[in-house]
Amino acid sequence: MPRAERWEKTSNRGATIWFTGLSGSGKSTVAVAVQQRLIEAGQVSYLLDGDNLRMGLNGDLGFSAQDRSENIRRVGEVARLFADAGVVALVPVISPYRADRELAREIHGGAGLDFHEVFIDTPLEVCEARDPKGLYVKARAGEIKGFTGIDDPYEAPLSPELVVNTAEVAVEAASALVLGLLNS
Ligand code: ADP
Repeated sequence: MPRAERWEKTSNRGATIWFTGLSGSGKSTVAVAVQQRLIEAGQVSYLLDGDNLRMGLNGDLGFSAQDRSENIRRVGEVARLFADAGVVALVPVISPYRADRELAREIHGGAGLDFHEVFIDTPLEVCEARDPKGLYVKARAGEIKGFTGIDDPYEAPLSPELVVNTAEVAVEAASALVLGLLNS
């Protein structure tokens, strides 16, 4: 059955919303709020959380540049499948390298699916002060090597569909901005 027919019969419209930014920037928190709003509105939505995917599908991958790229390639392919199924795939992953995110975008574009890149542009100082998983403390102590923003690069998006600094925008307002992308 063609995609348009599947979507119409199930009253769903798939897309991928890709949240990129530093650890602790608020990617997951905003994505969770977006998911709640979508589900309440009757649109199936699912969180493809980078940390969770690393336990299963990407359990064989580490944090070298090569493994980070492969991690993002796989997440991009999975998001494409979810979007095609009619799900709004919410993907909060640091995805520090521009080329990897571009590949994820191309994977969607090639399949005729919407891909919205949201740059959660929260300053490093704020992310580090929040340190929700205690990772910055470990990175500063040298217990974690190659930590994004500390001793591994983060390449900011050049033309994301949306930029949100969660040091200035509350979670609910941020999620409303993200939802606006789907209607544009
Ligand atoms: P990431 O997924 O980017 O690693 P998390 O969402 O796990 O980040 O953590 C962000 C932390 O910042 C959470 O503890 C969250 O409660 C806090 N926070 C404070 N203000 C905001 C905001 N406006 N938006 C998102 N997160 C916020």
